[in-house]
Amino acid sequence: MNKTIFRSVLIACCIVMMFSLAVTLFFLNSYFIDIEFENLRAQAEFTAQAVDKVGLDYFESFSSDIYRITWIEADGDVIFDSDADEAAMENHLDRDEIREALAYGHGQDRRLSDTLSRETLYSAVRISDGSVVRLSVTQASVLRITLGVIPYMLAVLVLALVLCTFVSRRISRRIIDPLNRLDLDRPLENETYEELSPLLVRIDNQNRQIEKQIDTIRMRQKEFNAITDNMREGMIILNKADLVVSMNTSAMKLFGGSPSVIGKNILVLDRSVELMNALSEVEEKGRSEYNFERNGFVNRLIANRIRDDNDKVLGTCILIVDETEKVLAEGMRKEFSANVSHELKTPLHSILASSELLINNLVKEGDKMTFIERIHSEAEHLLTLIEDIIRLSQLDETKEFPREEVAFREIVDSVVDALGKSAADRSVTMTSDVEDVRILGVRRLVYEIAFNLADNAIRYNREGGHVDIGVHETGDGIVLAVRDDGIGIPKEHQARIFERFYRVDTSHSRSTGGTGLGLSIVKHAAMVMNAAVALDSSEGGGSTFSVTFPLSSRC
Ligand code: ADP
Repeated sequence: MNKTIFRSVLIACCIVMMFSLAVTLFFLNSYFIDIEFENLRAQAEFTAQAVDKVGLDYFESFSSDIYRITWIEADGDVIFDSDADEAAMENHLDRDEIREALAYGHGQDRRLSDTLSRETLYSAVRISDGSVVRLSVTQASVLRITLGVIPYMLAVLVLALVLCTFVSRRISRRIIDPLNRLDLDRPLENETYEELSPLLVRIDNQNRQIEKQIDTIRMRQKEFNAITDNMREGMIILNKADLVVSMNTSAMKLFGGSPSVIGKNILVLDRSVELMNALSEVEEKGRSEYNFERNGFVNRLIANRIRDDNDKVLGTCILIVDETEKVLAEGMRKEFSANVSHELKTPLHSILASSELLINNLVKEGDKMTFIERIHSEAEHLLTLIEDIIRLSQLDETKEFPREEVAFREIVDSVVDALGKSAADRSVTMTSDVEDVRILGVRRLVYEIAFNLADNAIRYNREGGHVDIGVHETGDGIVLAVRDDGIGIPKEHQARIFERFYRVDTSHSRSTGGTGLGLSIVKHAAMVMNAAVALDSSEGGGSTFSVTFPLSSRC
């Protein structure tokens, strides 16, 4: 701006100077013409007096490079002309200066000379015999004088130009300095040109609007950070050059990144081929998904192109979802269905085989009962198996079980009742020691827990063994413990016995009517009521299964 003002002022000065110079030259020229006319008149009067006295002889001694002299009779005929042949010259009565001189004694004119075809100044004086003596000079001599002035004027011009440059610089600085000193953060506090007031008011308004917008943006950024940082899913936003714009805490933990990664290429975080492929797929198709494993977790990376309303690409949003549970659950479901069909097939094959033998009359009369009993027991086993599968899937699918008051004493009593025969059949003594504790829980599930644990304690026991069911309130919670002095569980199997269809000894489980699902049901049912299951067992040394219900569930 400083330069612009300086240049404008300088150009304006130059234009004014050039114009002044032209006008001055014009007036100087007019002034010199006036002086030339005065000189010419003086010369003409002097010459006229001489001609008046000497007559035609005067011209013999007349010689001049500058002036031309013409003597004209009162009737306009030319008597003498110093530069042309008078005989060939036309009558001069129509010349303005001649007419004026004849009328008033003196006349002058400035025009293009007919004879010399040049701009000429004429001055004519009437002498005593009525004739007129005329002196003329070409204007070229006047112009010469005028042009002679130009070098001086140019010198003045150069000086003026230097002065103009200096003055322009000072003027522009003086204009610009207050503008440079303007405090645009507090525009209304400036004391400056009055003309700037409307502009400063507008700047002030805009400043306020910008501040408001910045506040809104900051608030949104905070909200965005609060939301994304509390997300379990990792989230990374990239710009269209794949540079990281934003990355939440989960993504940082997953990729081991730090805030310094912001502004860098995503590949600095992860150079895997999968990510590179995903980025090019996003570029091509707008979306890409793949699973990857990190730190023992299975994650799904979903990348989506971000576009504005005009379909212009703004960047990419990457979401990383922990799919470990889903993948495990899927695996477990597949394994479970395979196991279920296998478990169902075994009794069904046995039923089919036995029944076919009976139908085809291939069984001796005395053995028929054995076969019928086998069919019956396999059918019973099948039913138990189906019931257990249904229980488990109910536990899998039901999110919320209605709570009710559950009295442990009632539950344990009915379990002891239900298993009394089975215990007696195996010569196992069942005892119980139950405090009168009540919890807010799911009665059916507490029953299933107690029943399955006690049933196992009887089935995996030995002749004359003992099973004790106890319920006690401790500092850790309400503990339901089922203790037996049976075969026990080897250490290497203890971690897996809660898995579906896992058995330490399949034939023992099957022969005692086990389905391999009892402990899975116990684990799930306990989880529903936030209870923890623990096992203390040793091979041949009996087992104690304890389920600890939280004290908060007591009522
Ligand atoms: P099952 O129907 O086979 O009993 P469970 O899920 O109830 O299935 O038990 C899984 C396995 O754990 C059993 O097959 C058995 O090998 C072992 N087990 C469970 N309870 C006991 C116990 N009290 N004593 C010894 N082994 C046990």
